[in-house]
Amino acid sequence: MKESRETSILIIYTGGTIGMVHDPVTGSLIPIDFKHITDHVPELGKLGFNLQSVTFDPVRDSSNIDPDMWVKMAEIIEENYDRYDGFVVLHGTDTMAYSASALSFMLENLRKPVILTGSQLPIGLLRTDGRENLITAIEIAAATDNGLAIVPEVCIYFDNELTRGNRTTKFSAEHFDAFNSPNYPALAEVGLHLKYNYNLIRYTDPEKNLVVHRSFDTNVAILKLFPGIGRNLVQAVTGTKDLKGLIIETFGSGNAPTYRWFLEEIKSFIARGGIIFNVTQCHGGSVEMGLYETSREMLAAGVVSGRDITSEASVTKLMHLLGTCRSRDEVIKCLGRSLAGEIT
Ligand code: ASP
Repeated sequence: MKESRETSILIIYTGGTIGMVHDPVTGSLIPIDFKHITDHVPELGKLGFNLQSVTFDPVRDSSNIDPDMWVKMAEIIEENYDRYDGFVVLHGTDTMAYSASALSFMLENLRKPVILTGSQLPIGLLRTDGRENLITAIEIAAATDNGLAIVPEVCIYFDNELTRGNRTTKFSAEHFDAFNSPNYPALAEVGLHLKYNYNLIRYTDPEKNLVVHRSFDTNVAILKLFPGIGRNLVQAVTGTKDLKGLIIETFGSGNAPTYRWFLEEIKSFIARGGIIFNVTQCHGGSVEMGLYETSREMLAAGVVSGRDITSEASVTKLMHLLGTCRSRDEVIKCLGRSLAGEIT
């Protein structure tokens, strides 16, 4: 149990570039021992918080983070929920938006901040962006107003911007400004001051306890449309053994070819019990099924609109619902509504 009223933050290091330093002997990049994090970021000592850490064994490049790892992150948070005021998850940037989305669906009634961050350059390098990202993520995880967390959500903090995790997407493999939230404004902007946009932050009912959902069904696929797509490809995907849910990344506001064969394949997959979720391949904006003839027939066939959801949130939401809901109808109903602020 917490022994003093000191603010306590748990850092969960899963892997990724941020936790790398040069091995003094070999010169190659190796993971940091977070027990000695203040040797690398002495500024952390000045925050005046009780900082503890848990490190994944082995640490993972985020390309190797999978649903089992999401469950592990959620369980660490659950086990330590009463002991800490907030959580900072250090994660590789490549799949950070997937993990943040998954956690947002897993941690129902969350009342403490879970802030994911990472960096484009290892923390052991002089020009690293990791130091600022880590320090500010901790400050946000610790921030309270009248004893309550200011941002009790799963968020990504990166390069001076705090965004809702399930609204965020990685868009640059080069710049420090690697993430953005195309369809929902930042929850906080960081300059000289930390400015929280209180009216955009989601606050759950304080009477409700944390519920952790652990089941994911990975029998899903994403099919990105392109001009010239052939029936054999669509058939190969929809015919995948045990496939239950298919995300079709459509053009513009949710449009797809009106070829007879394309609609036949869609209808046949739905008739076999499959669920199709229509998500736009545009970076921003929303699916509006029925706006054009090219989406009207999909709507009539029973395709569900993903509205303004990100691709990362759509696939994690679909896996979560297929793993959690009792019926196909329930999955379809929940896909269309916001569970954790992921759609407008
Ligand atoms: N490949 C790394 C990862 O996602 C990149 C990073 O950490 O930014 O784990």
